[in-house]
Amino acid sequence: MAKVAFLGLGVMGYPMAGHLVKAGHQVTVYNRTTAKAEAWVKQFGGAIALTPKLAAQDQGIVFTCVGNDKDLHQVVLGDEGVIHGLKPGAVLVDHTTASADIAREIGTALTAQGLGFIDAPVSGGQAGAENGVLTVMAGGDEAVFNQVKDVIMSYARCAELLGETGAGQLTKMVNQICIAGVVQGLAEALHFARSAGLDGEKVVEVISKGAAQSWQMENRYKSMWAGEYNFGFAIDWMRKDLGIALEEARRNGSHLPLTALVDQFYSEVQGMGGNRWDTSSLLARLEKSRK
Ligand code: NAP
Repeated sequence: MAKVAFLGLGVMGYPMAGHLVKAGHQVTVYNRTTAKAEAWVKQFGGAIALTPKLAAQDQGIVFTCVGNDKDLHQVVLGDEGVIHGLKPGAVLVDHTTASADIAREIGTALTAQGLGFIDAPVSGGQAGAENGVLTVMAGGDEAVFNQVKDVIMSYARCAELLGETGAGQLTKMVNQICIAGVVQGLAEALHFARSAGLDGEKVVEVISKGAAQSWQMENRYKSMWAGEYNFGFAIDWMRKDLGIALEEARRNGSHLPLTALVDQFYSEVQGMGGNRWDTSSLLARLEKSRK
């Protein structure tokens, strides 16, 4: 059993922290909006800390899952941040999708104080978090990763170290680049099927048994065909992720024309009021322009 803290009880963090309790770990939680932490403790037990620093005190592992670079900087390196509470030898595992830069900044600051750090963004969405079957893409020191991997597996079906600090975030960028292209392809396919007068559901039931199959197809074609988008992975989050990937690409010299274009398509969906719509709503943009 490990003594751990989980900071950031959002859509992802809330169920992830719950799986830690179910796996037998002793969990303290922190959430900026305390009401969420109170609801979590009511459901799972454990303790509440009122600041990240207090949450980190006396823990073997501290997990974070907040929104973006700025939030992460505040929670870890801010005046009341995790860094001021961790005891020597403790490890911070960050599940936020953020830049490789902030991962390296935090890694450097923590290592200088004899603390461990693993950047560990996740894939699998809300359902993956609730069912404890996330994919975790990690970066950092191998010995430190091995120290925390079993505890991470409380809510994951796969957790792998991909390289040094920042490699987890870079891998998540690869993941989001893949998704952007696949979702646009699926949206165009369904748009075409409707324009051609086909039964989209029947079409997908057939083609999903062949080479066109994808996670997006399996999990999204029904809701896309029905025009339902009020759930899932929000476009605001996706644009944050694509922005990080495009910024990284500018530096590493890679060419991401499709990713850049899909990012712009998403900005049009935001203009349609779709900030919180699922990423599959690229189809709504195409259907809007139907003649
Ligand atoms: P969310 O529901 O919006 O939750 C964000 C959490 O971060 C909340 O607990 C929020 O506290 C906290 N937070 C934000 N800014 C903070 C700050 N400055 N100080 C302290 N706490 C702060 O987001 P989510 O969907 O769980 O996503 C979390 C991360 O996982 C994001 O980086 C996202 O890109 C990534 N992710 C999400 C999904 C998904 O399907 N949702 C999938 C993969 C990866 P409050 O409760 O006080 O607002």
